[in-house]
Amino acid sequence: MEIKSADFVTSMADYGDFTGKGLPQIAVAGKSNVGKSTLINKLCRRNKLARTSSTPGKTRLLNVFLLNEEFHLVDLPGYGFAKVDKKEKQRWGQMMQDYFTKADELLHVLCLVDIRHEPTEDDKQMNRFLREMDIPFSVIATKADKISRGARSKYLAPICRALSVQPWEIICFSGEDGTGREDLLNLIDKVLHA
Ligand code: GDP
Repeated sequence: MEIKSADFVTSMADYGDFTGKGLPQIAVAGKSNVGKSTLINKLCRRNKLARTSSTPGKTRLLNVFLLNEEFHLVDLPGYGFAKVDKKEKQRWGQMMQDYFTKADELLHVLCLVDIRHEPTEDDKQMNRFLREMDIPFSVIATKADKISRGARSKYLAPICRALSVQPWEIICFSGEDGTGREDLLNLIDKVLHA
């Protein structure tokens, strides 16, 4: 599979406003700065499709992209900003709950974690939430170029423990050198055409 076309569709705070329902969806979740925008850009081979390094405090929205005129890639607002207050966290939680309960077309969630860091409480909470809601997901370990191939399994171990996944289920990805892009495309292909 290859991504032949990628277009920005819309941004929204409330999934109820989405008028483009009907196509299958794959969502991308992860904490701010984990490399969500970079992964989307690399996947689509477009430099500026998703913005990188969004600043904390900016209104967080669901961003929807149409890929191959076949499915929607939904970029979920990043979580875990140290500076956000309780109210903002609650708003984020409600937004996620609302999205995950209403998105009937959602097939799979790509859960991004930085390969170098142990998953945070927020990562674990997202993981529990997806399991409770029975939503299929895959863990993507980002910034894999920062860790040599030989050392990766050592870094994956705590991620596996925290998120209850097996190392072979994790895709190591790098927006820098393209590591894991093929694996990610294969996963998407499988999810869409299973
Ligand atoms: P987002 O907030 O999750 O959308 O994260 P971004 O895609 O904006 O990335 C946050 C920072 O991490 C930026 O400075 C990126 O250049 C850097 N980054 C993202 N992905 C990679 C990667 O695969 N390798 C390296 N070395 N840096 C990355």
